[in-house]
Order: sequence, then structure tokens, then C-alpha cells
Amino acid sequence: MSQPLSNFQVRDAEALLHPYTDAVALRAHGAQIIERGEGVRVFDQSGRSYIEAMSGLWCAGLGFGNAELVEAARAQLEKLPYYHLFSAKSHETAIELGEKLKAMVPGQMARVFFQSSGSEANDTQIKLAWYMNNALGRPRKKTFISRKKAYHGTTLATASLTGLTGNHTDFDLPMPGIRHLSTPHYWKEAEAGESEDAFVARLAAEFEALIEAEGAETIAAFIAEPVMGAGGAIVPPMGYFPAMSAIAEKHDILTISDEVICGFGRTGEWFGAETVGYRPTSLSMAKQLTAGFVPLSAVAINGEMAEAIEANSGRIGMFGHGFTYGGHPVGCAVALKALEIYERLDMPRVVQARSPRFAGHLKSFEGHPLVGEGRSLGLMGALELAPEGRRTGFAAPGEVGAKMLSELRERGIIARAVVDSIVFCPAMTITEAELDEIFAAVGPSLDATLDWAKAEGHL
Ligand code: PLP
Repeated sequence: MSQPLSNFQVRDAEALLHPYTDAVALRAHGAQIIERGEGVRVFDQSGRSYIEAMSGLWCAGLGFGNAELVEAARAQLEKLPYYHLFSAKSHETAIELGEKLKAMVPGQMARVFFQSSGSEANDTQIKLAWYMNNALGRPRKKTFISRKKAYHGTTLATASLTGLTGNHTDFDLPMPGIRHLSTPHYWKEAEAGESEDAFVARLAAEFEALIEAEGAETIAAFIAEPVMGAGGAIVPPMGYFPAMSAIAEKHDILTISDEVICGFGRTGEWFGAETVGYRPTSLSMAKQLTAGFVPLSAVAINGEMAEAIEANSGRIGMFGHGFTYGGHPVGCAVALKALEIYERLDMPRVVQARSPRFAGHLKSFEGHPLVGEGRSLGLMGALELAPEGRRTGFAAPGEVGAKMLSELRERGIIARAVVDSIVFCPAMTITEAELDEIFAAVGPSLDATLDWAKAEGHL
């Protein structure tokens, strides 16, 4: 029997349509209403505390309280609370952040373009590629290549790049002109007896075959997250990105690194592309750019793209794209402060120091009858729930994952279930003791879920 809903839960269900939520179930069970945050923890209205083992939505990399970020926002609100970058206007904070990002990102990036969300950043990537290819006199070079289980956002175009059926069903998506390659998840997708190298070679051959079938002159870009986040924290084999980059380069196809989750230390280097050997021609950044405190996203493009796009804007008379809040002064000020903090702490090194303990905890559950794989890179990872470790998964996908999530919540841990992958992405500043606290709850949660799964006939 579920508890009667609180007044707030009733008001919530009456007032709000929630993203990624079963609205019918919400009316029965109510939302979990979070009131405040402190360190790696959040507190609900009854005062109960939870370790937020997902940094919210992979973004609160410095946790849920930071006086320096608050002060940066306050000072900017007082000095210049709003301005924009349209029609040849600018402001100092955006200029400084643009310079800073150019210096930080891998590759020789020439220009930075601001938005507010990860979806807007990736939507911008599509428009930039199309605009550039029209400018270069190759109007057929428009197709985008993504991967199954990729997550690139939820606008019409970026939900189409996203390779998850839940983002397509009944939205009449994906749009034409988008292709999805296989997911580079060795544990789940490799054929019997296939080595990791052979798996990579097969995925690279799939990419080449698609280019050959459609013609390189029709393909604009390959877009990829270094580690697939919302698809289930899927870590590719380390040979995958060098192989995919080489093919894209050979065929003059742009390589976009979606760093919306992986950027700013999360994988143990400043950017995920550096960790996995991906050579991008442009990057999308958001989330940890401001430590999640205020919305801001950015795209960085290389010199060739910048030159073609800027020249075309001269011919047309403008670059007709932009968002009212792209480069918002408060977002830029908070981002500058977040980057200063990351640099002061040497965040990649902090993540490298913490990640063996994180990885060890995840791996330690691989012998559990409900766990197939414990995987991670840096401080993002997942436990893949599977009946007796079988790669085929459960007959009713997602039910065991949902039960595991509620068991963790009962024990004071907020994680996320992507079907039956239980995903963790704690604040990068989490202590070893706090990591241990998360995983001390995982064992009993798995055991309770196993008992339930047996009783319900999932095994
Ligand atoms: N790209 C990646 C890799 C993401 O994980 C997300 C969101 O989780 C997005 C893009 C979309 O970002 P937003 O929700 O800010 O539009």
C-alpha cells in the first residue's frame, strides 16, 4: 500500500507535467519533493537526507552548496543582471569565458558559441554543420550519424539524434537524415567469442559500410558522447574512438564530442574526448560548466568551421541563429568561478584519485546473482542488473531496475535506473567515506531486490 499523498504532492501533480515521468503513476505515488542541499546530500520535506549519487542530472559536480558560486552569481546580478550577444553586442564575462574555454578544450578550437542547455548546444551543432556545408557549396552533405542508446537532448532534432525509443515514441521521431550505429557496449553487444579488438573492428566496419552505402558527400557529422550517459553509463572499448575518428577524418565528416556530461574532469581528464582518444572537430558543453548552479551551455568549433561560417554570415548579412539567454552574464560568471574551482582543486586528478575506489565497489558486485557487469570510467558508472549475469536481460525490462532504485532510496541513496542499468555519477568532490556509504547501501538493496525478483518470477 502506498502512503497517502502529502499536500505538496497533490499540488505538484495538479500543477506540473514532469519530464521522464509516468504521470498516471505519479498521481498514485507522488513526487519526491526535495527541499534543500548540502555537500553531496539533498534533504526532502520531512528532513530525511539522501546522498545524491547522480549529482542531480549529472551536473552538480561540486555538490549542492558552494558559497563561491553563490557569490559569483550575486555579484554579477548586481553589476549586469542581463545582457546578450545578438547584433554585435557583448559583455566582459562572456568574452572571458570564451577565452577560457578555447584554452581548455582539446584540439585547436577557434570560436565559442553560447546557449542555455545541452539540447540547444547539440541543436546548434546540427545547424552549424548544415550552414557550413551550404556555405562550402556541398548542400547534400547533411546526414548526421549517431548511435543507438546515445543521448543528445530532447528538441525535435536532438531527440532524433538520441538513440532511445522512449524519446521517439508518439513524437513522430526520429526526423529524416539521421542514422544510428550500434552501441559500443562490449559486455552486452559482442558476439560469442568475439575479442574486444574484433568488436571494435566490426563497429568501425559498420560505420564505413554506412558511408559507402550513402556516399560521404551526403554525410555531415558523427556525433558521440565519450561515455554514453543516459544510455546507461556505457564505457566504450578504448580502441573505439580512435577507429571512428580515423574513418570520419578520411571521409571529411565532422566529429562532434558531446561533452555535456563528460566535460570538466568527470572521466579523469578535462574532457571525455581526451580520456577515450576521440579527435573532435567541435564540442558541446553544459551541466558541469556551471556545476549545475545556473543554466549555460557552449559549443566550441575549430578554425575551418569558424572561417566558413563567418564568411557566409558576411555574404548573407548575418548568422541567423541564437538564443535570448545564450551567454547570460550570470551563467558566464558562475561558469568562470566553477572553472576556477576545478583548476584550483585540479579536478581531473581528484577524479583519478577517487575513481579506483568507485570502480572497485562497482566491480565487487559482479559475483552477485543479479549483476551482469559493474562498469565505470572516472566517476561515472553503472551496475547492469541481469538474471544470473545473462546478457539477454530480464523478460520484463525495467521492472527489476525500478525495484532496485526504490530499495536504494529506502536506504538514503538517490541513483538512476536506465531500464536495468543502475547508474551512479556522484559529485566529483565526494569523499571516500561518502563513496563507501553509497555502496554499503548497494549490497542490501541488491539482496532485497533479488528476493523480490524471485518472488515475482523475474528469475
Ligand atoms: N547531451 C548529453 C550527453 C546529455 O546527457 C544531455 C542531458 O542529459 C543533453 C545532451 C541534453 O541536455 P539538456 O537536458 O540540458 O538539454
